[in-house]
Amino acid sequence: MAQAFVALSAWQVMLAGLLFFGGIYLLFGAATWLLTQRILPALGIGRPLDPRPLAPGQLRREFTQSGLSILLFGTGMIFPWGLLQLGWAHLDPDAGWQQITLEILALLAWNDVHFWINHRLLHTKLLRRFHLPHHRSVVTTPFSTYSFHPIEALMLGNVIMLPMVLHDFSFWSLASVPLFSLFFNCIGHANYDFFPNVSYSHWFAASRRHHLHHACYHGNFGFQFTFMDRLFRTRLQAEAATPQLEAFRQRESLGGRA
Ligand SMILES: [Zn+2]
Ligand SMILES: [Zn+2]
Repeated sequence: MAQAFVALSAWQVMLAGLLFFGGIYLLFGAATWLLTQRILPALGIGRPLDPRPLAPGQLRREFTQSGLSILLFGTGMIFPWGLLQLGWAHLDPDAGWQQITLEILALLAWNDVHFWINHRLLHTKLLRRFHLPHHRSVVTTPFSTYSFHPIEALMLGNVIMLPMVLHDFSFWSLASVPLFSLFFNCIGHANYDFFPNVSYSHWFAASRRHHLHHACYHGNFGFQFTFMDRLFRTRLQAEAATPQLEAFRQRESLGGRA
């Protein structure tokens, strides 16, 4: 597979990239939507997080912004491919499953470090305007995952470039990054608490943490894990959004009575 990837032409790489990112966005998004809107509620597993309705035209906006990100991620495959062509990075065609497992674990941790740094930068005054398009989704959906300003897409999309020049990865380890990243991204934006019984700091409570990030804006900049927010003391309290959700519920019940 490594050799086949390197042997592709630039156009083929970009086309394959577009099909890959477009395909996984629709597939993962639709599967998460079905799971959280239909299957899990019917089975009585988990619960929705934010009771507020989506903003008018939100889904259309998320699809439009995500389409642009897919265009950038897809054609951007030319960059890792270019590193290989230039000989600045190499793939290890002989990596065994143990090496691939270790590489994926390292990339999982790196992904959280890379995401926290870029996300924190996007919350500075200087770069805020490039992040606000993502935050227009206050109540998120599985289709908010790629809903970025193009600058944010470029900042987040380069995650494998630095590791690639530092180590000869297996093709499969690198290919796992967009997959696990989108998987966790769908969970984070699903607006659904899959495991209500685990503690707020548990790995399985990532959707609660990212819901709070969208509801409160400041804090919880991490991705799947909590180590960066713990290290830099940027964690939100578990109850941070309770006042606004309570206010909404009260307005709703008053409206219902009127
Ligand atoms: Zn943010
Ligand atoms: Zn988000």
